[in-house]
Amino acid sequence: MAEEDGEHERNIFAARLTMALRAQGVRDLKVLQAIETLPRSEFVDPAYVAYAYDDRSLPIECGQTISQPYVVAFMTAQLRIGDRDKVLEIGTGSGYQAAILSRICRRVYTIERYRTLLREAEARFERLGFSNITTMLGDGLKGWPSQAPFDRIMVTAAAEEIPPHLVEQLKVGGLMIVPVGPVGGIQHLIRVERTEEGFTEERLLAVRFVPLVPGKAEQL
Ligand code: SAH
Repeated sequence: MAEEDGEHERNIFAARLTMALRAQGVRDLKVLQAIETLPRSEFVDPAYVAYAYDDRSLPIECGQTISQPYVVAFMTAQLRIGDRDKVLEIGTGSGYQAAILSRICRRVYTIERYRTLLREAEARFERLGFSNITTMLGDGLKGWPSQAPFDRIMVTAAAEEIPPHLVEQLKVGGLMIVPVGPVGGIQHLIRVERTEEGFTEERLLAVRFVPLVPGKAEQL
């Protein structure tokens, strides 16, 4: 009974969050549906579970954060993902964004530099039955050459400039969304489109992300 009550409450919170995102202009139905049905409470630190359906970022282990639901929804919608797409995510963190992506594309490849975070995210994918997410411990700035090219790439940590190796691993016509800007300063989400000759870029939204740090983490 308590379990059912908990689930009922969670559904109400999730519906309320989805409505708030809609009110902020998120229109993509697949994205809204993914957010409404994926239990964000499973991805947050137990200490913050009461805030799991608030529209805010929350701390996770290793000094990182799970992104704000509005930013997750915005970035996912702006990536215009097709259901046959192969998508690369940089910065697995809690695994929440990867799980949202996996609901609307064919396969997600996600890279994280902290082993602790990656293991926990993998355990969540397993527990929640996600079978189309492949993970790797490593430096996301290098991308995933053996799986390239990708239809879409999403970077969920702030880069100082558009990461060149990631652009190279996009298909021609493919899109990437990446927050670009100084650490702790104003960053902007940039949408990059790969062209035959190079790429074009478009500035979308001011955001604040944890930094994209080169190299695999020394700390676990
Ligand atoms: N997408 C995550 C948000 C995580 S925050 C979520 O939904 O929870 C950004 C993550 O990027 C952190 O976990 C951080 O460790 C990771 N990160 C930073 N630099 C990286 C790099 N060079 N390669 C891989 N992951 C990186």
